[in-house]
Amino acid sequence: MRIAFDLDDLLIPSQFSFPTSSLSIWQKALRLENLREGTCHLFSELKKQDHEIWVYTSSLRTRSHIFKTFLFQGMVLDGIVNYQKHQTSVPVEFKNLSKHPPSFGIHLMIDDRPVIQLDGQQFDFEVLCISPHELLWTHKVLETTAQLMKLH
Ligand SMILES: [Mg+2]
Repeated sequence: MRIAFDLDDLLIPSQFSFPTSSLSIWQKALRLENLREGTCHLFSELKKQDHEIWVYTSSLRTRSHIFKTFLFQGMVLDGIVNYQKHQTSVPVEFKNLSKHPPSFGIHLMIDDRPVIQLDGQQFDFEVLCISPHELLWTHKVLETTAQLMKLH
């Protein structure tokens, strides 16, 4: 499956804080960002199960900045959708949505915002909503991907 993760308040603290990885002096010098604790372990579990891991963010971060943020923490992303990519790739009828995962062949979107889940219900795409306060978040991701795999 192709699984996409949001960034702000899902993997990177923004309005809310949660435990994160610590950055080396080099990562700080490159202005890379801390990732939520458990991200690296979760991604390696998903890769072992042959899933593709994408980032889909409405932020203005460049794709190379996002790629490097993960790479320097040992993770290679399979695809990245940022605000610019979303604007240029999503068909006009879905342009009013802040995210449209089916436009990128994404099977499961993981996001902190309940509105994305509501859009998913309305426009028929799969969303797992995870709050920034959720402690068992990696467990929830693995559980949901396992359930979806059974259905496909
Ligand atoms: Mg978010």
